[in-house]
Amino acid sequence: MGREPVYPLNPFSNSTIFLQTQEHKSFNDIWKTVKIVYHPLMQEHYDRTPAGASGRLDSAVEILGTHPDYEFVEARPATEEEILRAHGTRTLDSVKHDYDSTRAGLLYKMATLAAGGSIMAADIAVQGEPSFGLVRPPGHHASGDSYWGFCYFNNIAVSLLHLRAKGLIESAYILDFDLHTGDGNINILGDDPKFTIHNPSGNGDEQYLKDVKQSLDSAPDVDIIVASAGFDQYEEDWGGNLSTEAFQKIGRMMKEFAEERCEGRRYGLLEGGYNFEDLGKNVLAFCDGLRGV
Ligand SMILES: [Zn+2]
Repeated sequence: MGREPVYPLNPFSNSTIFLQTQEHKSFNDIWKTVKIVYHPLMQEHYDRTPAGASGRLDSAVEILGTHPDYEFVEARPATEEEILRAHGTRTLDSVKHDYDSTRAGLLYKMATLAAGGSIMAADIAVQGEPSFGLVRPPGHHASGDSYWGFCYFNNIAVSLLHLRAKGLIESAYILDFDLHTGDGNINILGDDPKFTIHNPSGNGDEQYLKDVKQSLDSAPDVDIIVASAGFDQYEEDWGGNLSTEAFQKIGRMMKEFAEERCEGRRYGLLEGGYNFEDLGKNVLAFCDGLRGV
């Protein structure tokens, strides 16, 4: 047995990105250093779904990894205890032994990294600092006792239930702007009145953004806002619906909501998005909005 390969955290730049200071950071303004939680293993081809395909995150890693206003931090795996807050043991065992993994153990390793990275993004956000989990597999189709739709563990639920277990939040607003309804988010969190989940709809930017705004305006006060950030609504993706600029506006609306309602606490976790070439610019647009650009 050989040793595991050593991955550079960011193949496009050396470790200098980790040495950036936070001196430009200012609240109620544009955040100059926003943390992107990521792990080099996220680039692996881990299953036979479009979400797990080779090259899916390349454009996002290149664009965010070379951008001076974003800082990559390395995801750690979630513990079983953390995963079991959202899932039953059967789901945990099933993901461990998933037949679809391209290499023995790889899928489980990545699913635990995605869930752990999501917890890290939530821990950063709860301090009032915006963050984004550039993670995969996605999670919003993963329910308590079953999973489908390219998802295994529910990253949103694992991260929010972690914050609540630590006494850091009681309530949350979940904006799921993926093309597909996150039935897993609804299954795990939907019956709890402390969690508000919205899947916007609308044809084109104007209608869709109006729906997002109306929902945010009528939302109860919460302790944190998080996005199930899928980019498959994009006009050049499966949904054929939203422009890149719309993702920036969604991020911006979340920033404004967070500053008015929940002490700036906001984050996003990657869900779908299958135009590999443009995924990077769309993730950047959303993250720019989230930090106030
Ligand atoms: Zn989707």
